[in-house]
Amino acid sequence: MTSPPLEDGGVLVSGGRILAVGPFGKLRKNTPRGTLIMEHPSAALMPGLVNPHTHLELSPLAGKIPFPRQGFPSWLQALFALKREKCWQEGKQNQEAPQRELLKTGTGLAGDVCNELPCPQKIPDPSTDVPVPLVHTFCEVLGFNRQGLEDETGPKGMAPFEEEALKDDFFSLGAHAVYSTSPALIRQAKEWCHRLHRPFTIHCAEHPEEMEFLLHGTGFCRRLLEDLGRWNSRWKPPGCSPVSYLHGLGVLDERTILVHAVHLDEDDWQKVSSTRSNVCFCPRSNANIHGGRPHMARALSRNITCALGTDSLASNDDLSPFSEAVHVLENHEGIEAQSLLRMITLNGAAMLQRAHEAGSLRKGASGAFLAVTIPETTHSSHLAETILYQGQKGAWQWACTPRAN
Ligand SMILES: [Zn+2]
Repeated sequence: MTSPPLEDGGVLVSGGRILAVGPFGKLRKNTPRGTLIMEHPSAALMPGLVNPHTHLELSPLAGKIPFPRQGFPSWLQALFALKREKCWQEGKQNQEAPQRELLKTGTGLAGDVCNELPCPQKIPDPSTDVPVPLVHTFCEVLGFNRQGLEDETGPKGMAPFEEEALKDDFFSLGAHAVYSTSPALIRQAKEWCHRLHRPFTIHCAEHPEEMEFLLHGTGFCRRLLEDLGRWNSRWKPPGCSPVSYLHGLGVLDERTILVHAVHLDEDDWQKVSSTRSNVCFCPRSNANIHGGRPHMARALSRNITCALGTDSLASNDDLSPFSEAVHVLENHEGIEAQSLLRMITLNGAAMLQRAHEAGSLRKGASGAFLAVTIPETTHSSHLAETILYQGQKGAWQWACTPRAN
């Protein structure tokens, strides 16, 4: 991810951390006696994958919403209907450590959006010592008629967030979206993250209804807020795009992750680029919901840090970054396999501010990495593409398993 592939390479691991990466012969000479050697012939060693955007709390809804939907309203109505059903509560109770789902997809680090504290998806399962991947939790704030963070948290004020942040480095806040979260709430959530130097995330420009809402204050989002009793009659539509709106709120910077970014024009991309904001595309979710196609090539050509996220199992078939990347290879022109490899590893780790310990094989990084089986005849020019397809097929294994955070 950071340098050309190394033939007959080796990775030296101790205490769950990488001590050295280099030619196998050289590493072996300098390795203490008694070191366990694990051989992976005909395989590519690569870092555990990174999925910066998912909602593990929605995993009980896997397979329950048929795709494709006819747009975001149709998807959201299906989601609300399911959440009212008994199966949702039962599914939540019976949910087996969802982090293990991530492990099965080769994911070593994820960004997970959570709506309750402490996040139930993050509580370690006491009955087992099965290792789990690193998970950064974004506690999501929401409410279009709320005046600020304390309005959201109630009498406890900021204490629940402060307590969580104190005990968990992998914790920060996210705002749901511009049509569901008041400007004050978005700004304060971002300020809170900024003060702690932690990443902030928001769904942005996901569907045409969001655009209509900001331009004219009308349409599906307006009706939704009124139905939910969340409409704020004092709010005036800014008459601009979601990116311009967020830019105006002052929340775009190198610690902000914009999720989806489907409906952006040139001026928007310019703002994303000049503020060095990060973008996490979720193209399979967009295709399943029928919300549009993100212009990934435009973002990449501007050197914007881009990653791929799966979003939740309520809008995707699985949580596999390999599958997400193969979907892009097959459905979006002008994106090279090598770029996709970086998007599902190093770039995702960078936007979660974990590039020092995830997303690449480097000294000091997590000793959890993958061995992807590669046919011996593979030409180096097809290596990245082969890794993605082999990964999607399941022709990989953990060379070392991630440790719990
Ligand atoms: Zn999402």
